[in-house]
Amino acid sequence: MKYKVYNVLPEFGTNTYLAWDENSRQAIMIDPAAPDRILLEEIKNLKLDLKYIINTHGHGDHIAGNKLIKDGFPAPLCIHEADAAKLTEAKLNLSEFWNANIVSPPADVLFKDGDKFTLGNCGVTVIHTPGHTQGGICLLVDGLLFSGDTLFLKGIGRTDLPGGNYEMLISSIKDKLFTLPDETIVLPGHGPDTTIGKEKRNNPFVSLVSRI
Ligand SMILES: [Zn+2]
Ligand SMILES: [Zn+2]
Repeated sequence: MKYKVYNVLPEFGTNTYLAWDENSRQAIMIDPAAPDRILLEEIKNLKLDLKYIINTHGHGDHIAGNKLIKDGFPAPLCIHEADAAKLTEAKLNLSEFWNANIVSPPADVLFKDGDKFTLGNCGVTVIHTPGHTQGGICLLVDGLLFSGDTLFLKGIGRTDLPGGNYEMLISSIKDKLFTLPDETIVLPGHGPDTTIGKEKRNNPFVSLVSRI
């Protein structure tokens, strides 16, 4: 798998990812954070066949570009079923609180934990990781984990927003992410990349190393 990251919403530092299988050029766009035409141009310039638009969760800073991408390409929009209502309600996706009133087209595909699809010969697995929101997901493909707002470099997602749950987030990370190989590359919804092994050792919220 190849991927590129875009920072089209600098106020929030949200990472938008394009990921694709090199042979088939089949691609996914993850969290189009703003309606920036560069995202459309990249799909064309890289000669990609966009199969799915995927939101790791329904917060406004991850979905504001959905409409632009969907208008440009006929790819289905996917989100976990527990976050689907956030797409079309500015109050639920929290954008109302920063006076942006972002609404997205509704979802075409509702994901559940363990759902799988393919990009060429690469398998993609949906991992439901509730805690930041009820319907947060991570996507695992070919040694890459797109972790949304679940796991960051030395950080975890906020749990003080509506639908957040600290204990649930910690168990999502420990039970579903820290069971992946240490060398798995973690590509978060904000900030720089890391690995599962580094976070197991260094993440102050969920480190498995006991501290004195
Ligand atoms: Zn979020
Ligand atoms: Zn976010």
